[in-house]
Amino acid sequence: QPVPRELRPDLDKALDHIIEQSRRVTFGADLDNPDLHDLDISFAEFIAPYTEQPFVAEYLTMWSAFAFGCHPSDNSALQVLTWVAGYDNAVWTLDDAPATKFAQGTASLVEALAADSGADIELSAPVASIADTGDHVEVTTSGGDAHTARFALLAAPVNTWQDIDLPIDADSLKARFAREGLAGHALKLHALVDNVPEFLMASGWGGPLCWTSEQANFDGGRLLVGIGEDDSAIDATDPAQVQQAIRQFAPEATVRICHGHNWTADPYAKGTWTTYRPGQLSRYYSDFAVPHGRLYFAGSDLARGWAGFMDGAIESGTDTAAVLSQRLRDDG
Ligand SMILES: Cc1cc2nc3c(=O)[nH]c(=O)nc-3n(C[C@H](O)[C@H](O)[C@H](O)COP(=O)(O)OP(=O)(O)OC[C@H]3O[C@@H](n4cnc5c(N)ncnc54)[C@H](O)[C@@H]3O)c2cc1C
Repeated sequence: QPVPRELRPDLDKALDHIIEQSRRVTFGADLDNPDLHDLDISFAEFIAPYTEQPFVAEYLTMWSAFAFGCHPSDNSALQVLTWVAGYDNAVWTLDDAPATKFAQGTASLVEALAADSGADIELSAPVASIADTGDHVEVTTSGGDAHTARFALLAAPVNTWQDIDLPIDADSLKARFAREGLAGHALKLHALVDNVPEFLMASGWGGPLCWTSEQANFDGGRLLVGIGEDDSAIDATDPAQVQQAIRQFAPEATVRICHGHNWTADPYAKGTWTTYRPGQLSRYYSDFAVPHGRLYFAGSDLARGWAGFMDGAIESGTDTAAVLSQRLRDDG
């Protein structure tokens, strides 16, 4: 549904406000600068002055929920503005952010990184505890295997830190951050669908999905990706439920097959991509890269710039590896 012409001025006022405020943000730096604290409020509060017109309210609610995987009352406007700043102060880029893909799938990136690292990788060996003795670290898996090293780097999602016995004080910034947790719990599904318009891209508010878009065409069917703000709204593996959700946008749709993974129920994720709660960037941004003794921290949740994206994981990993390499050299 295109934006009705008579409502565009109201929507433009809201979008202009977002663009204007994003110019106060330096992408990838200084996000806990006190001058930005007034922006580290919920996105719902940030846009409230512009939501008198119900269509505009619905559009902006969808826009933030689609991008951050939660209701706009739960995510920080400052993070939204950071992304807009990262997109060269453009607001429309977010609408089709997942459109760019790896030619051989995301697994090809993971495999290339693993091959490049030359590391010994143990799968299905969850870490249960990390102890810092002062001159080395001891990492123990839930299966009881122990590993000793000079330093450790924890790259698990922040939402899982509380499940690992870590050598950090309960009142440290990192422990507090982990207790609060991040806000994203998006529903994301893939469905091979018939009877939908070609190149469908639709968004709206009020159903289990707030955004859907055609990604590919297989055997005459259209592969849609759908995103919603609440992964408990429907079972993304149930064709009947997914079909009903897609019919919000395409009433004739029939689902052949569908797939989704509940990342919030996954004990090694406990949520979706990085979505900061209001106030978290102000409280914790400077602490993201700070090690605790011999324990270092990395991951997209702690990225300076593209937190919430694969780019953020790579950026944070690269930064932390450089710091740790220097410490290994200094340490002899
Ligand atoms: C539904 C969804 C859609 C997304 N779409 C996009 C997108 O379109 N584009 C984009 O760039 N990004 C996207 N992202 C975000 C992207 O996946 C993340 O930013 C990225 O994977 C973060 O990488 P990471 O290495 O920091 O963390 P993760 O990829 O979460 O890796 C952390 C690893 O730690 C492991 N782990 C957890 N606990 C333990 C433990 N106790 N012991 C040992 N290992 C443990 C986990 O199993 C996991 O393998 C999406 C994320 C989700 C959930």
